[in-house]
Amino acid sequence: MDRRTNPAAGTDPLLQLTDAPILPTGPSATRHLTHPQDLALRGIPVMCSACCARRDWLLINHGRNVWVICRCGNQWLEPEITRADFDALIFFPDGTVYPSIDQALAALGFDGTFAGTYLD
Ligand SMILES: [Zn+2]
Repeated sequence: MDRRTNPAAGTDPLLQLTDAPILPTGPSATRHLTHPQDLALRGIPVMCSACCARRDWLLINHGRNVWVICRCGNQWLEPEITRADFDALIFFPDGTVYPSIDQALAALGFDGTFAGTYLD
């Protein structure tokens, strides 16, 4: 929620704290990170089987599983990426919380809209 839309919060720091977004944490959270660079698993670069893209991924972690999502919308479960690997990659979580995976994919441009494109 945008704080500016909540006039009750005003400039009171305590009220603003209660209005802060709650980031998903814990083992059942679904987390995401964008990975603009290429990604090598055991020395082998990841490549999309649908469009042959070699970088600009979205990674989604839920439980022990990590999925790789391509700009073309292709996605697959990647058993080579563990939750620990994901934790090591997530240096700067953007803190955005999406109501659903589908809405996250659309908002981040991984719903196929940018198929064949690297956005950087
Ligand atoms: Zn692709």
